[in-house]
Amino acid sequence: MRDIGIMKNLPLRRFLVCGWLALAAACSTTPRTFTAEDFAKVDKIDVHVHINTPGSALIDQAETDHFRLLTINVDYPDFPPIAEQARIARELVARHPGVLAYAATFSMNGWDKPDWQQHVIQELDAAFADGAVAVKVWKNIGMSFRDANGRLVMIDDPKFDPVFDFIRERHKILIGHQGEPLNCWLPIADMTVNNDKEYFKEHPQYHMYLHPEMPSYEQQMAARDRMLDRNPQLKFDGAHMASLEWSVDRLAAFLDRYPNTVVDLAARLGQVEFQSNQDLAKVRRFFIRYQDRLLYGTDLSQDPGDDPQEVRRDAHAAWLHDWQYLATGLTFRVPELDAPVHGLSLPESVVRKIYSGNAERWFGNPWHAPELHSQESK
Ligand SMILES: [Zn+2]
Repeated sequence: MRDIGIMKNLPLRRFLVCGWLALAAACSTTPRTFTAEDFAKVDKIDVHVHINTPGSALIDQAETDHFRLLTINVDYPDFPPIAEQARIARELVARHPGVLAYAATFSMNGWDKPDWQQHVIQELDAAFADGAVAVKVWKNIGMSFRDANGRLVMIDDPKFDPVFDFIRERHKILIGHQGEPLNCWLPIADMTVNNDKEYFKEHPQYHMYLHPEMPSYEQQMAARDRMLDRNPQLKFDGAHMASLEWSVDRLAAFLDRYPNTVVDLAARLGQVEFQSNQDLAKVRRFFIRYQDRLLYGTDLSQDPGDDPQEVRRDAHAAWLHDWQYLATGLTFRVPELDAPVHGLSLPESVVRKIYSGNAERWFGNPWHAPELHSQESK
């Protein structure tokens, strides 16, 4: 559980001081910030969810909390088959066009056959015709999928290039999740967040520190960067902060080097909170400097068998906590860290970009039912 702290509402105090003491000129340079209560009325987009059932629990909660969603199909064996994920996404988008958009994916099956590229391009063509706004490539590329010779296939393999060219020509986005958090290559005791410690303790097969025969963290990042070097016109959305979640300096260097990219924040705010607990001003400066390149996302999912009420409760709690971190100056606890976390209190204009403006611009605003979002008061 995350507990909300007791810091007072600074914007109100600021306003009163300004008014009473006629210091309006001095105060006018202080950017306006949101409160925790503003969560309920500000229009927001979560660009990284996975809805793997036809149920509408996550969508219903999104409407309640003024969220629009991008559900992302993934070539992940624990999810339903890709064709089933796509069918669910298309049906849900048709039923909820103002709330939901979707990103397609493609299978690595048949990689060794000569017509693999043509087959993938045909599938993506059909997905785009059905409204897909982006294409996801997952960490199986680089970390598990092997060709007929037993060689790990990395994301910079030239065989992908015709597929990436097709995505670019159709003005769609490539969403890339390559590698893992840096913690994955560290001993458990050196990991920065509790969720990584628990996950890799339970899944030693994915804990790369125990598998030195596999590509290193830097090799994963270098393969992704070589792919971007070769495809500079491709619009790329680095999922999970492009796996550079451990350092805002390193992520800043990536964003500077690749101007045609954005990153989403999904499931990595714990690592950011770890950094802001060491230097809040530095992390806040990063968010303000790169305010046009950051997309809010969570990695929330709705899977077969999930209890709808639990899905709604978990989504609401996660969205609210993240809002407190990014938009307010509250102090609160998060499960990822043992120490309390202080909110970044980002300016309203920055919060609006991260929560909706950047996603609308980047994905071409596929969500279109303004009546759902007309209650916003600001
Ligand atoms: Zn995900």
